[in-house]
Amino acid sequence: MIRLAIHGGAGDLAADQTDTREHRAALRRIAEEGRALLQAGASSLDVVERMVVRLEDCPLFNAGIGAVLNRDGMPELDAAIMDGRTRACGAVAGVMRVKNPVRLARAVMERSPHVMFMGSGAEALNRELGLDEVTPDYFITEERFRQLKQAHARGVIVLDHEAAFTPAEPTSGGFGTVGAVARDAEGRLAAATSTGGLTNKHPGRIGDTPLIGAGTFADDRSAAVSCTGTGECFIRVGFGFEVHARMSYCNWTLERACREALEDVRRLGGRGGCIAIDHEGNLALPFNSTAMYRAWMGADGVIHVGIGTDDVD
Ligand code: ASP
Repeated sequence: MIRLAIHGGAGDLAADQTDTREHRAALRRIAEEGRALLQAGASSLDVVERMVVRLEDCPLFNAGIGAVLNRDGMPELDAAIMDGRTRACGAVAGVMRVKNPVRLARAVMERSPHVMFMGSGAEALNRELGLDEVTPDYFITEERFRQLKQAHARGVIVLDHEAAFTPAEPTSGGFGTVGAVARDAEGRLAAATSTGGLTNKHPGRIGDTPLIGAGTFADDRSAAVSCTGTGECFIRVGFGFEVHARMSYCNWTLERACREALEDVRRLGGRGGCIAIDHEGNLALPFNSTAMYRAWMGADGVIHVGIGTDDVD
């Protein structure tokens, strides 16, 4: 049975962020495309890559176009992808000239002997492999520039949705890091995640998104997981691998493994959530912030979209 879930980031909705219709429509459109591909027999790996490319190309989310900006006003993008069948994976960090970081992550996985590339070396590989190249301004939107100015003025590093790194106060930050998980008709699992990281982050800072076993993980024997939130805490928990380990060694359900890992994140002072799918097609979409932009297709075959806890359609 085919299943999928995508996210567009987690955080606390600011008071002025009540109109989410555009985000909901984009999530629905992209999830519907993913469902159609899975129904046509596409592999989970192709489908998570395609859905994340679509999310990167959508300026509403913090990945690709519309990614948040670092302290110097530059986009530094991170992405990863993992194949649950073979545990093959690829990741890139701190790239500014790669049109679709998740595509390069896939190329790292399939066309290089390595797992992870960063910065200028990753950009050189992108060029060598003939993938689309852009200049950094391609990613920069006015809204993200405004958010950076706000963060500069307040002297904070901001989780893409809120003011979470220093004493929290509501901001109108946009959501969010993007990710996808899927199970195809052959039972293969895959996960992919892509982000601009944190607004006003120190140049060179890398979060959980491109770290296999933290923000991105997939293993057909357990689950595919894609995270969003305070990256440092997800790294310290080893979130994706923790879910896998609890399911594999303790026989926990996906739901329990994700909930407990998120509780570990909370204990470390982190916020956020994950989308996850197990080998039987069960889904878990927990978050400990007030919202996580998400869409999924469960056993009913219908695409559902939710942002807060009780606004699902
Ligand atoms: N987890 C991402 C990071 O720390 C940010 C996010 O999910 O919004 O880079």
